[in-house]
Amino acid sequence: MDEALRQLVRRRAANRCEYCGLPAEYTDAPFQLDHIIAEKHHGLTVAGNLAWSCFYCNSFKGPNIAGRDETTGVIVRLFHPRNDVWSEHFEWVGPTLIGLTEIGRVTIDVLRINDPDAIEFRRLLLELDVALS
Ligand SMILES: [Zn+2]
Repeated sequence: MDEALRQLVRRRAANRCEYCGLPAEYTDAPFQLDHIIAEKHHGLTVAGNLAWSCFYCNSFKGPNIAGRDETTGVIVRLFHPRNDVWSEHFEWVGPTLIGLTEIGRVTIDVLRINDPDAIEFRRLLLELDVALS
């Protein structure tokens, strides 16, 4: 991986996870370059297909590019950090991330963003006055 490309993606994201908003300085688990469209699906290693992701979001996302909306049963693509506007798809209610759209709900589900341990960790961040996104 080209280190300059990695640093560009990290800086562009202000060193926060582009899915769950976690600031990198609050975790020991190393952040990763996420191929938004996985290489398995012919996604390229270019700035327009890369996102800065926490270890947890990237691990659960894996090569997924879509998920099934639990409420409608419809297959929906995941949030695309380069093409989509985060605030149109997500909203914080305390430490819990709410999906405002099918894309938001499916992304939260596939990436397990509201895992109980993640919610508890974000509750602690909020107590420290750390903005979640
Ligand atoms: Zn994340």
